[in-house]
Amino acid sequence: MMDAERSAGRAPLLEVQNLVVEYSVGGRTIHAVSGVSLEVERGETLGLVGESGCGKSTLGRAVLQLRRPQSGRVLFDGQDLTAMQGEALRKMRRRVQLIFQDPIASLNPRRRIGDIIAEPLVIAGVKDQKRREQLVHEVLSAVGLDPQLVAGRLPHEFSGGQCQRICIARALVLNPEFIVCDEPVSALDVSIRAQILNLLEDMKARFGLTLLFIAHDLAVVKAVSDRVAVMYLGRLCEVGPSEQLFAHPAHPYTALLIEAIPVPDPDVRPAESVAVGEPPSPMAPPSGCRFRTRCPRADQRCSEEMPELREVGPQQFAACHHPLIGAG
Ligand code: ADP
Ligand code: MG
Repeated sequence: MMDAERSAGRAPLLEVQNLVVEYSVGGRTIHAVSGVSLEVERGETLGLVGESGCGKSTLGRAVLQLRRPQSGRVLFDGQDLTAMQGEALRKMRRRVQLIFQDPIASLNPRRRIGDIIAEPLVIAGVKDQKRREQLVHEVLSAVGLDPQLVAGRLPHEFSGGQCQRICIARALVLNPEFIVCDEPVSALDVSIRAQILNLLEDMKARFGLTLLFIAHDLAVVKAVSDRVAVMYLGRLCEVGPSEQLFAHPAHPYTALLIEAIPVPDPDVRPAESVAVGEPPSPMAPPSGCRFRTRCPRADQRCSEEMPELREVGPQQFAACHHPLIGAG
C-alpha cells in the first residue's frame, strides 16, 4: 500500500503482513501461523475458514495483539500495532474488539450483566456512572434485550443465544470500528444461529463496523462474508470475493471444503475435517505446500517449492502450483 493511498483514506482498515505466530510446548515449536498476509477494507466482512487447529484463533488474537507475533506487522488504520506498547496500545484497543466462540464461558458468572457490559467503559476511564448506565442500556436495547430486565441479572439466568447477545453488547459498548468474531455461532443451537448472524449484520450496518469473521463452517462464512480467506495448517491457501470463490474455487483445499458443505439439515452438524486422512502436525509441517500430503493434485514440485499467493481470477488469489482455475 502506497503512502499516498493511505493518507487519502483509501488504505484498508487492517493490513496483516507476513504474520508469524509460534507456540513453544515442551521444547518443541508449534507453527500456528506461518507468514499470513491479508487485508480487510473498511466496512467489509472478511470470512476466515479452515479446519479446527489451522490457526484461525491464533491469527485473530495476534491481530489484536492479545498474543504477540514472532514477526510480521499488523497495520490498523495505518499504525503498526505490533510496535505499540502501554498507553498507545490501550487506546488502540478501544477501537478493536473480540467476540468469542463460547458466550457463556466468556462471561464472569458472579457479575451482573450491567456490570459486565460497563467494565470496558470503566477500564477506558468513563468515570460518570450515570453516563455508563445510559450507554449500557443503549447497547442492551441495540442487541434486542430489555435493559430493565437484564442488567441486574447473572449470566446463568440466560440461554447461550442470549449470552452471545450480551457478549456482542459488551464488544459494542466502546463503539469500536473493527471486531474479530471468533466462531460466534459455533457453540449455539442451530435454531439460534441465524438470529445471532442477523444481529451481527444489523450491528455492522448500524455501527459502521468492519469484521473479521472466523468459522470452520463454510456455509456460515458464505452467508456473511464479502470476501473469504481459506487457511490450512498456518498458511493462507486462497482468498477472494465470496461468490467467486464458492463458484470457482482455485485451491484444491477450498474445493474440498465446498464439497463438504452439508445439505441443510438441522440435525447434522457440519464436519470439522474434510480432507482424507489426519492433518499433519503443526510441529512438523510438510515442506513446500503444506496441503500436499492430502492433495489429489500434488507432485514433486509441491514438496520442494512453497507456493506463493498469486492472482487466479478477478481479486482472487491462490497459493497453489496446480490451481483448478487460472492455471498457466
Ligand atoms: P483454530 O482456531 O483454527 O482451531 P488455533 O489457532 O486455536 O486453531 O490453534 C492453532 C495451533 O496452535 C493448534 O495446533 C493448537 O493446538 C495450537 N495452539 C493454540 N493455542 C495454543 C496455546 N496457547 N499453546 C500452545 N499451542 C496452542
Ligand atoms: Mg479457534
